[in-house]
Amino acid sequence: MNIDDWFDELATKLPATDVYIIKQSYAVANKAHARQKRKSGAPYITHCVAVAKTLANLNLEGEVIAAGLLHDVPEDTTVTLLELSQEFGPTIANLVDSVTKLKHAADELQIDQLTFLKRKEAQRAENLRKMILGMGDDVRAVLIKLADRLHNMRTLKYMPPEKQKRIAQETLEIFAPLANRLGIYRIKLELEDLAFKYLYTDKHDEIVAKINERNDEIDKYINKVAQQLTQFLNEENISHKLSWRAKHIYSIYKKMKRKEVDIDQVYDIRALRVIVPHIQDCYAVLGVVHTKWHPISGEFDDYIAVPKDNGYQSLHTAVRDNQGKLFEVQIRTSEMHNQAEYGIAAHWRYKDGTQADNKFDHRIAMMRQALKFKRDIHDITESVADAHEFMDAVKNDVIREKVYIFTPKGDVEELPIGATPIDFAYKIHTQVGHKCRGAKVNGHLVPLDYQLKNSDKVEILTTKRGGPSRDWLNENLGYVKTSRARKKIRLWFKKQNYIESVAQGRVILEKELKRLHITAVRLDEIATTCGYKKIDDFLAAIGYNDISIQHVIRKIEELTATSLSDEEIIEQIQAKSKHAMDSDSGIDVMGIGDLLTKMAQCCHPLPGDLIIGYVTKGRGVTIHRTDCVNILSLQDKERLIKVNWGAEKNTNYVTEVIVKVYDRKGLARDITNVVANENVNIRNIKINARDKYNRATIRLEIEISNLSALRKLMDKIEHLPNITEVVRKW
Ligand code: MN
Repeated sequence: MNIDDWFDELATKLPATDVYIIKQSYAVANKAHARQKRKSGAPYITHCVAVAKTLANLNLEGEVIAAGLLHDVPEDTTVTLLELSQEFGPTIANLVDSVTKLKHAADELQIDQLTFLKRKEAQRAENLRKMILGMGDDVRAVLIKLADRLHNMRTLKYMPPEKQKRIAQETLEIFAPLANRLGIYRIKLELEDLAFKYLYTDKHDEIVAKINERNDEIDKYINKVAQQLTQFLNEENISHKLSWRAKHIYSIYKKMKRKEVDIDQVYDIRALRVIVPHIQDCYAVLGVVHTKWHPISGEFDDYIAVPKDNGYQSLHTAVRDNQGKLFEVQIRTSEMHNQAEYGIAAHWRYKDGTQADNKFDHRIAMMRQALKFKRDIHDITESVADAHEFMDAVKNDVIREKVYIFTPKGDVEELPIGATPIDFAYKIHTQVGHKCRGAKVNGHLVPLDYQLKNSDKVEILTTKRGGPSRDWLNENLGYVKTSRARKKIRLWFKKQNYIESVAQGRVILEKELKRLHITAVRLDEIATTCGYKKIDDFLAAIGYNDISIQHVIRKIEELTATSLSDEEIIEQIQAKSKHAMDSDSGIDVMGIGDLLTKMAQCCHPLPGDLIIGYVTKGRGVTIHRTDCVNILSLQDKERLIKVNWGAEKNTNYVTEVIVKVYDRKGLARDITNVVANENVNIRNIKINARDKYNRATIRLEIEISNLSALRKLMDKIEHLPNITEVVRKW
């Protein structure tokens, strides 16, 4: 494309003053780089124009595009920053300066990698921090840097092979995560695919070949599905735009690795995308999709209710058709789509070429917070503690998977995020693990459930005799993160006294039965159900942690579900009912805080319908409409009981969950996130004050549909770090 054509195109979407300044910048850059060539042999200015075009495609304003054109001028030519400042003013000059500083931060990274090869990983977070600090006051410099990197990646084939690998590595580790952090998916995805191609060429080519092989077939299929969906949505009068796209190569690779499957099993090589005007339309579309096809459990994500950190919102689901073929559907509003495409760049977009987005200020504030950007930089210069916190935030947010820990001798051990000194001890030597009694991190004593952070220097304090503590195996307490340590601890207990383990197992089981208020079970029955002939063997297995208590409880649930007699069920329900004494009025369905009634799937009764209860064999009372055909045609009339709607008009049941915790930063938020993720409504949350041991109790009043949903929720909460106990209030 001719440069003047591009200027004409810009003139259709930018104010004339912006286009003017872009033309001026082009003239200056073109002159300054006149004698320089790219490795490809192309004039250097082609790189500057490519960078500027990427920025223009992100719909950024004139001064950013201008700075993109000028970004290599002070560094690589005789024109100075001062001259740029005089010609274009401080904003553009500062942007260019920030980009140059970012480049230096990246260069330092290379030196660090060579000098401290072993410490390379630990250094990455530090360098990322430097890069973010390096962007000065204007985050738009990072966008220019990303556009710069994108073009360098697109032209990477002209570089020598060893340089290709290094640049690709850096792109995958630093620039793609940065683009992700800023929510600019189009750049993130392209950077990942390009880096992947150079780093894992064989894998890349293999996936591409496989995709090409099946391309037509998949295209044809998804075309058909898209037509069907359009028809369904039209029938429901849901206005929408539908598109689909091939999944990116690197995403496929990651999914294959994550799920340990072959490419043939990575079904969502095609994803349908539905864009609708309003949020409520998103859920309407989801309803249609889930009715017409079969939803795959565990594949539904509601990023509208719980947006990703970078602001991304959408509904994601995967469904199966009648032939068993799978595809993915993403549903979002056009506003969410904008956010996904442009990320923070969306916040600088001009709506009609003249006026900035009216949510501009708010979004800038959000973005700044997301990047912990300007304030942190000031804090860092003022306080070392804050600097640490900031580094932690950057590390944890951007490089999630591993921490790198130093031994007292300066060796590096790799551990998963969330690992504790105990994990570290077992990593060093099994005996060190068994005898671990305390730990010093960076010279200070820490509790054994301390979560290790990148670059921590850890010294393990050991005892001469004795073994691990049984508490270490309690997942609720968070002492152990790695399966290696867990296995070693379990083995140790196995070797210990059988009788002791039996006793221990009994304690664990009894505690759990009490916690869940389960009384009507016999030990020998549970043992048999779990596959043990002798009760002691069964208890010992619990003591060894060979079978998890969760597993045992599930078995008990199955057992009790089928063992209750009809009379017992009715008795239990009546005992819970407010109006149990008034036998004429029957049982209240709502508001009895009981989970033994459920709505019939055949007639879906709603409050206000005339209803009747049917006592099922061992599974409580099912509520039907009195005019339900299944009830009218029923032979077995003695199983029918009188029921009322009761006072509560909510279809969910209200219950209270009590969570005991060792308080930590963000814990209450983590708990409410878990609850929201389970689509459970919180009516009330009460947090009592921490005591001197840092213990606190959180009471959640929730609306929940049934007992297994409640158990699932309790399990999820229990798995958060620092939770000691989760019980249902009885
Ligand atoms: Mn450049």
